[in-house]
Amino acid sequence: MLSFLTIQGRPVFVEEKDFRRYVIVSLLSIFALIVHLFLICVFWLIGAIELSVINVGSVLIWSAGLYINIKGKHDLAILLLCFEVMIHAVLATSYLGLGAGFQHYLWAIAALAVLNTRLNTLFAGLFSFLFIMIFACLYLIFSEVQYSYRFAQWLEWVHFANILVAGLPFIIALVAIRFITVVQEARLSELASVDSLTGLYNRRFATDAANKILKRAARLNEPVSIVIGDIDFFKEVNDRAGHEVGDAVLKRTGLFLREQFREEDVVARWGGEEFLIVLPGMTGDTAFRKIESVREQFVDKFEEDNPLDLITMSFGVTECQPGSVFKDSLRVADHAMYASKEKGRNCTTLSPPARV
Ligand code: GH3
Ligand code: MG
Ligand code: MG
Repeated sequence: MLSFLTIQGRPVFVEEKDFRRYVIVSLLSIFALIVHLFLICVFWLIGAIELSVINVGSVLIWSAGLYINIKGKHDLAILLLCFEVMIHAVLATSYLGLGAGFQHYLWAIAALAVLNTRLNTLFAGLFSFLFIMIFACLYLIFSEVQYSYRFAQWLEWVHFANILVAGLPFIIALVAIRFITVVQEARLSELASVDSLTGLYNRRFATDAANKILKRAARLNEPVSIVIGDIDFFKEVNDRAGHEVGDAVLKRTGLFLREQFREEDVVARWGGEEFLIVLPGMTGDTAFRKIESVREQFVDKFEEDNPLDLITMSFGVTECQPGSVFKDSLRVADHAMYASKEKGRNCTTLSPPARV
């Protein structure tokens, strides 16, 4: 029944980026419709016939708001609903007095009004403040109004219930803002740690991760191996096939390398066509054998996919001594990789660990 509130079942007019706002406004409208239908009866029962009739108008406005929201015009819906609550709060206070507590809904819409992203921040803030201003004015204008309807003994409970119900949208708005902030922070930190072309970790993240791995390994007295891999004659790939093909090769190399290693291994794009691999728990010999097998598979993969251009990689491997600094081991791995280039490329060189 509520499938129209799911991302797949959402109405065609609702864009994916607006989905959260659409759900909040829809749920709020349904909730408010029920409350207002209930209020029609309550006002009728206490003898406030005018308010009961006004509530029929409110039900129509909330239905229109729900309809507009489903049609994808979320900001217009929020605006309409804010004005409905404002008029409702003012009229109810003018009839029932401040003791009934209908003025508290102005705080709730003050919070909702700032969610209207069509307005710039300053204007949204001012718009929101307008409702707080009206709230304050109600205390000046209607302080003398006394409740003169039936069931006066329940008035403080009505006030109590109004504070609670008015608090709900306030909390929902804050929770929504908090949720959006947390998601965006996670996204930003992901963006800051990932290379946009290959999807591998970038140099900055990999340096931090390698330092952490080395510290932990020194504490536990476990081996760690560091590998630098570089695509051979990559400049030629670019020159002959174009930069775009070069990019595609880098992308597929990244994907291929990530698939070859365990989750705890760090696979990163170190720069241009150079990749860094950190292998915790692996001795230099084991790492050498692993990299040789990866190198052979890499050649096969590109031979299959692209028989005209043989794409190969050269690797340098070293084991880190416990307590060694990442920078020093990296330099050794880098020299080992250059030794592979000198040997004719498409091979792996294992260098003894850097001295601590
Ligand atoms: P070697 O075998 O000695 O490593 O030769 P090479 O041609 O691979 O090395 P060189 O350092 O001469 O050239 C590296 C090339 O990588 C030059 C540069 O244009 C290219 N490159 C670096 N980053 C990117 C990138 O993001 N995309 C593309 N398409 N090319 C890149
Ligand atoms: Mg190269
Ligand atoms: Mg290079």
